[in-house]
Amino acid sequence: MYIIMVASECAPVAKVGGLADVVHSLSGELDQRGHTVEIILPKYDCMRYDHIYDLQIAYRDLWVPWYGGAIHCTVWFGFSDGRRCFFIEPHSQDNYFNRNNFYGFHDEVMRFAFFSKAALEFMLKTNKRPDIIHAHDWQTGLLPVLLYELYQYHGMQQQRVCYTIHNFKHQGVCDEEVLWASGLQRPEYYGNRDRLGDDFSPRRINLMKGGIVYANYANTVSPTHAWEARHTEQGYGLGHILHVHQHKFGGILNGLDYEAWNPETDTLLPHNYTVNNLDGKYANKIALCNRLLLEEAYKPIIAYIGRLDTQKGIALIRHSLFYALDNGAQFVLLGSSPEARINDEFWKLKFELNDNPDCHLEIGFNEELAHLIYAGSDMVVVPSLYEPCGLTQLIALRYGTVPIVRAIGGLADTVFDWNDEHKSPNPNCQRNGYVFYDATPEGLESALHRAIGLWNSHPDIFRRLLVHGMKCDYSWKQSVQNYLNAYEHISVTKV
Ligand code: ADP
Repeated sequence: MYIIMVASECAPVAKVGGLADVVHSLSGELDQRGHTVEIILPKYDCMRYDHIYDLQIAYRDLWVPWYGGAIHCTVWFGFSDGRRCFFIEPHSQDNYFNRNNFYGFHDEVMRFAFFSKAALEFMLKTNKRPDIIHAHDWQTGLLPVLLYELYQYHGMQQQRVCYTIHNFKHQGVCDEEVLWASGLQRPEYYGNRDRLGDDFSPRRINLMKGGIVYANYANTVSPTHAWEARHTEQGYGLGHILHVHQHKFGGILNGLDYEAWNPETDTLLPHNYTVNNLDGKYANKIALCNRLLLEEAYKPIIAYIGRLDTQKGIALIRHSLFYALDNGAQFVLLGSSPEARINDEFWKLKFELNDNPDCHLEIGFNEELAHLIYAGSDMVVVPSLYEPCGLTQLIALRYGTVPIVRAIGGLADTVFDWNDEHKSPNPNCQRNGYVFYDATPEGLESALHRAIGLWNSHPDIFRRLLVHGMKCDYSWKQSVQNYLNAYEHISVTKV
């Protein structure tokens, strides 16, 4: 198959969050299976140009219709980690992608609406006719609308769109201006609530809604989150439209990059290990204690690694720290928040606990330390309020660290409680952690209590539990197959 990804991020050249990793990993896996994959990105001035190989002009004069006129663009080509990438560079006074940052500007919607249009115009003019265009998040929500309403009449009637939503919170809600700029016009038609009209703000346009309505297949990044988006407030108002389009909406779990996260070969670890020889894991535990000046005691280490965002359950993270210390465990936290208030709160906590030999708080982002914590800890806690997929629990499982998670989103699809006699629905992955339901201290304690209890009273069984986790397969293998099934289902030319 011939697939073109259109996205605002792709690791490592333009990475802000998980979207970048998904575009990078999915493209690589599809390529390895013999499919032709190309990625179209904006040409940001702040990209990691040191990760682009052989950057050269691919198309010098691309004129993209915009308002009544057209914006002159240059399209560049280069390889990023072996992936074939095109970068669109508009030359206009708006300077859409020369802002020294990826996101956060007043004209955000116009920047990415233009990018979506430019990506289609580029395909049209260069005779690129992929079987599938895979668009991601609100930034490219307008793409299937433009394809169906305009570009199919210029010779792109065979192209089909898969639209993946990584985060429902940001939807690209804007005024009608975007319709005039992109050439769609007719606000009375597109502004209808069955199409792009926002359900909550009259006369406003919702780009993510457009993506859902016009894509041939839409999905989010785990089956449980797909259900939550339809039936709970986690759809941030899009539940109704997802319900209307339920026949073409689903959840496909993200995979983990098993090359980057492999305890057997991880160069950031002092000691490598495998499921058959866990000595290295215990040596890493000692290395972690030494590194963070924790007392080398016969106690389990519980860790939290992640953004300190309200989404992640800040109060419960805090509670797990104190519960661990009160119940004979050690606690390590690695995280940071863009919100000064939350960061300050954790800095304060760090000072209060400074002399405690059983805990360490590291406020900041530290990739290398994250690897050591995943390897050297006994458990990680993930008490999120919502979690579309989540990577932390997948990395923990791979590193033989038992995840203790709240049963929501992708966490519920990947972690299965040790004490639950019903096996997981996935035959390759049996009970591998601890799960709780209520986002309350009592809920969290019910899982922490059982995990610490097993570690203390049945170390041999605890070891069996972590081995179960290491044997789970959450690589991209299955996820890519699920995407391929979706592509094949919607594509015009059946393979
Ligand atoms: P989200 O995308 O919502 O932040 P995920 O669980 O999907 O959450 O992914 C988080 C990823 O970022 C994980 O790989 C985690 O190890 C990493 N990470 C988060 N915070 C930090 C940090 N402070 N230092 C190092 N790695 C971090």
